[in-house]
Amino acid sequence: MPRMSRRSRSLRRIKKKLPGGSTKLVYAKRQPGTTKCSICHIELKGIPRMRPFEARNMAKTKKRPERAYGGFLCANCLREKLKQEARQS
Ligand SMILES: [Zn+2]
Repeated sequence: MPRMSRRSRSLRRIKKKLPGGSTKLVYAKRQPGTTKCSICHIELKGIPRMRPFEARNMAKTKKRPERAYGGFLCANCLREKLKQEARQS
């Protein structure tokens, strides 16, 4: 019987093949959810799904689009927001 903390389904179960040919059950954390636009809640493109330890060694330019509000707003919402800002000024 696996230990108490591993009986929960909050951890993902992976059947890993060992060099000898046998398989071993390995427990791994689940993949985080996708980043969403803060206005329309649509899934943002160009942002990888990863855990913080994976993000740590990744270049900043690979983690979000390099434009104003990149990683927070989708392209359509950004376009509308920039138009609004231009009208107000
Ligand atoms: Zn949006």
